[in-house]
Amino acid sequence: MAPPDGSAQASAAPLRTGADYIASLRGRGLRVFYAGARVEEPVDHPVIRPSIQAVAETYDLAVREPELASVTSPSSGERVSRFLHVARSREDLVLQNKMQRRLGQLTGTCFQRCVGMDALNALHSVTHDIDAAHQTGYHARLEAFIELVQAGNLVIGGAMTDVKGDRGKAPHQQADPDLFVHVVERRADGVVIRGAKAHQTGCINSHWLVVMPTMRLGPEDRDYAIIGAIPVDAPGITYVYGRQSCDSRSLEPTALDRGNPRYAGQEALVIFDDVFIPTERVFMDGEVEFAATLVERFTCYHRRSYVCKSGVGDVLIGAAATIAEQNGVPRASHIRDKLVEMTHLNETIYATGIAASHQGQATASGAYINDEMLANVCKHHVTRLPFELGRLAQDLAGGLVATLPTGADLESEEVGPLLRKYLATTAEVSVEDRWKILRLIENMTLGRNAVGYLTESLHGAGSPQAQRIQIGRQQQLDYKKRLARRIAGIGEFGESAEEPGDIGKGEAGGFFARVFDSDEPEPEPEPEPEPVDQAE
Ligand code: SF4
Ligand code: FE
Repeated sequence: MAPPDGSAQASAAPLRTGADYIASLRGRGLRVFYAGARVEEPVDHPVIRPSIQAVAETYDLAVREPELASVTSPSSGERVSRFLHVARSREDLVLQNKMQRRLGQLTGTCFQRCVGMDALNALHSVTHDIDAAHQTGYHARLEAFIELVQAGNLVIGGAMTDVKGDRGKAPHQQADPDLFVHVVERRADGVVIRGAKAHQTGCINSHWLVVMPTMRLGPEDRDYAIIGAIPVDAPGITYVYGRQSCDSRSLEPTALDRGNPRYAGQEALVIFDDVFIPTERVFMDGEVEFAATLVERFTCYHRRSYVCKSGVGDVLIGAAATIAEQNGVPRASHIRDKLVEMTHLNETIYATGIAASHQGQATASGAYINDEMLANVCKHHVTRLPFELGRLAQDLAGGLVATLPTGADLESEEVGPLLRKYLATTAEVSVEDRWKILRLIENMTLGRNAVGYLTESLHGAGSPQAQRIQIGRQQQLDYKKRLARRIAGIGEFGESAEEPGDIGKGEAGGFFARVFDSDEPEPEPEPEPEPVDQAE
């Protein structure tokens, strides 16, 4: 398969299956480092391979369940991956969430494609709005890029989070100007960028990176207001693989200790050392006032994309129920109650995310965007509830989840028989099967995929405080005070308690209040923008 530089992509047959996708990653010559050494072929590296297989699952799902994971492209009329389709209806938004939950169920980890999807979702309306304000031509370039990646059925990584240096300083104030990605040279045919992006989900497994600013920018940050698409194998890019807890389990000879032997997530530090972006792939250059708009729209989409964790949670609940069965106590009332609690917490994540999508609205470009308040509530739940789900799963697993010997001991002729004798539970349960479920719970709550299920749940798409700021901005306290005053019979602002004015417009709930109660003054802007700290 041809390496995915821009010209080869335009002519190559579209990737279809997971196997096609994996073949497309070979021979690209990426500059990847892991454990102090250059990785010659990431596809064959035992630590990296499970993350590639998680992305491959997105392709195979589109073959098996095309209604869920693919969509008819409005431009080409062909079926294309749902990850490459800009949402143009509430149904599109909802189906993105349903696909994400399904893939979480199938992989038990991060399948890495949502950042690119939400970058396209957000850029569709933002490029349209920049063009309207500045008579630029970004939107048409973006649409041409979307057609290109749809034609090849390629993977896009969204590169937002800068390394940020001194958090108290703006990009242009940093001692080292490269601590935020910026333009270092403008040529007749494009721009050259330098800097680094941290925690980049699935970047090595992508074909293209879309580089975007990470926070609100001021006039002096003009060179930092750059958005562009770059082939992953462009000259000047270095990838340093992010270590995941227990990732070296993948290097051990027995699969017994891997927990989730097939799938894993991926994050890496991406360093851009004078990387060229041709003009036709630049979607913002210098329009600083739209940086905050982009970040807000991207996080709005992406915070409801975290329903992915409800799919992963389904796997953890299944593992907890299985270990209870294997331990011979599936019907104990406290165990059943803990499983109910896990389910309740997990569905709470899903409910808020999918509700955000159901409440989507059209933007000026025709792209639909989900409800911002509910998306922030979804992501805020995700910063907490998986930790409680993990605690309950460890509770149900028992102490053995943390004290199990190595798989090599179980396979040893000398000590293995003793372990089989003393780790037996019921006649129907093999020691190996119980071992694997314990290792899966360990993997998801302490090991390699705890990175995605727990810590990445905390920081991805913004750390908890970023959601609290957005929730605070939209909480409509004045409106809610008027509701209370009306019920209590307290007049205010010249109104009598019997004349509630337009208060009834909000009666259907928070969403309608936010949409229709337009006479509430905008809340004061935050004095300092909260960096998004987008862990992807
Ligand atoms: Fe998608 Fe992000 Fe969830 Fe990974 S963590 S599956 S990229 S939403
Ligand atoms: Fe993420």
